Amino acid sequence: MSKYIIIGGVAGGASAAARLRRLDETAEIILVERGEYISFANCGLPYYIGGAIKERERLFVQTPASFAKRFHVDVRVETEVLAIDPAAKKITVQAKNRGRYEESYDALLLAPGAKPLKPAIPGIDHPRILSLRNIPDADQLRQRAEGTRAIVIGGGFIGLEMAENLRRRGLEVMLVEAAEHVLAPFDADMAAIVEKELQAKGVSLFLGDGVTSFTGTEASVSVTLTSGKTLSADFVVLAIGVRPDTDFIKNSGLALGPRGHILVDEHLQTNMAAVYAVGDAVEVIDFVSGEKTAIPLAGPANRQGRVAADNMAGQKSLYRGVQGTSILRVFDLTAAATGSNERSLKRQQMDYKVVQRHPLSHAGYYPGAQMLTLKLLFAGDGRILGAQAVGRDGVDKRIDVIAAVLRLGGTIYDLTELELAYAPPFSSAKDPVNMAGYVAENVLSGRAEFIAYEHLLAAVKAGALLLDVSTAGEYEAGHIPGAINIPVDELRQRLSELAVDRPLVVYCKVGIRGYLAERILKQQGFSVKNLMGGYTSVLQQQ
Ligand code: FAD
Repeated sequence: MSKYIIIGGVAGGASAAARLRRLDETAEIILVERGEYISFANCGLPYYIGGAIKERERLFVQTPASFAKRFHVDVRVETEVLAIDPAAKKITVQAKNRGRYEESYDALLLAPGAKPLKPAIPGIDHPRILSLRNIPDADQLRQRAEGTRAIVIGGGFIGLEMAENLRRRGLEVMLVEAAEHVLAPFDADMAAIVEKELQAKGVSLFLGDGVTSFTGTEASVSVTLTSGKTLSADFVVLAIGVRPDTDFIKNSGLALGPRGHILVDEHLQTNMAAVYAVGDAVEVIDFVSGEKTAIPLAGPANRQGRVAADNMAGQKSLYRGVQGTSILRVFDLTAAATGSNERSLKRQQMDYKVVQRHPLSHAGYYPGAQMLTLKLLFAGDGRILGAQAVGRDGVDKRIDVIAAVLRLGGTIYDLTELELAYAPPFSSAKDPVNMAGYVAENVLSGRAEFIAYEHLLAAVKAGALLLDVSTAGEYEAGHIPGAINIPVDELRQRLSELAVDRPLVVYCKVGIRGYLAERILKQQGFSVKNLMGGYTSVLQQQ
């Protein structure tokens, strides 16, 4: 009979324990968890604080007792692992009810997760500065959320979810982010759309501004920023990222990465025999770049738990890497992404191409269609490298479809061939994903040449003429300064108004008429680029 010990009883650990039991009914399985709870919905915590999840009990996917009963697992909560000894195959624990003792194992799984970063900023230990990782944190924050003003530090997923949920509770919310934009997995042009939504919903943004110190009284806390500004509130939510909770294995001989993550192979085994590791605490392969990475997400942690359990039970199973597919609701918007973004591709010095579009979530003639912004990144051979989308409807399924194609090693040509479910309330006969594929295909064939908004000024300075090909009414309602207007439907008749030797940048509302104009003009010998995403992209960036 095999004896398995699993350290950490939430996403990766609980998944692994359940899988191990399904694979081996006779094994002894011990699940060791520092906290009072196992298998709780950490992803649901911000919504409990905000009030969308009303009953606290709903956060407990399993209780220690229900898990122990269903999976016949020895669940030991309020038991902290102090050290592991892979050579002797034993761990040392400190249990609330049993004191300190040792436990031996045949195979060990480390699923300790990651803890909130808490840098050595003066005043950071003030009791009104809180982070969110577990149920006690959520209880504390929910109590604090009875107040009127909050400062959220960090514009990542948890920071934004907290900003939204506190705002929904009626608090005044200030969001501080040291980088120029929120949401690091997204490029600046996509993050800018999210920032507009935050501001529209009353969240005050302090971007490109780091924290230099905290001060406080019994009833409030103040934050001083690099810019010299000082903000005050009832409490602060510190959400500037996480670091692996791996201090207890530091002297065990386990190989760790530069930021303390446990190094594992494709079977999720560490450098030590019979020791496996999963979840937020491990460094894995980036599925797109092949580089080492660590992305703290629930899906990968659960999947890794299953793969590690297979391997522990003697069934060879591979973990092929993480692609960082993620999604976030920001008030009325949804933002989702998969794979690499432009920033990471630039860092890797990858040659990539971009298509950004603003399709409708479903057929325009059917009521309720909403514009979304979809960005696709791909290589010169058509391989999909990443995608991002922001919008009010239909964002999730577009990113999930592209994530699936990416995972299968697909190309933009595959996107054009996908047969996706369609009826007017749901989509268009040519779904935005198909359309992104078509446009990308046009880019690779050279039929379509785009210019991104960030390069527009340089092109105009170099002598390009800006040509707005939308209707006269649209042009009057708003256009890029310096642009002339020839509606696309009049273009063939008015070609003589344009000098064939002057480069042109054409644009319309979203880019479709711009492309038609580009095709007409190119076949007449003009040098033309179409402004990516049209005037809509310009407005999104301002
Ligand atoms: P955890 O789930 O963190 O579990 C680790 C457990 O190990 C902890 O309970 C800890 O107490 C225990 N432990 C650590 N050290 C020891 C020790 N020495 N002895 C005993 N026990 C120990 N991801 C998404 O994909 N989507 C989301 O919407 C999302 N929302 C999130 C919202 C919040 C507020 C948080 C905190 C996270 C969110 N995540 C989300 C991330 C996701 O929850 C994590 O990626 C996932 O839980 C990681 O799983 P894990 O098993 O590695 O670690």
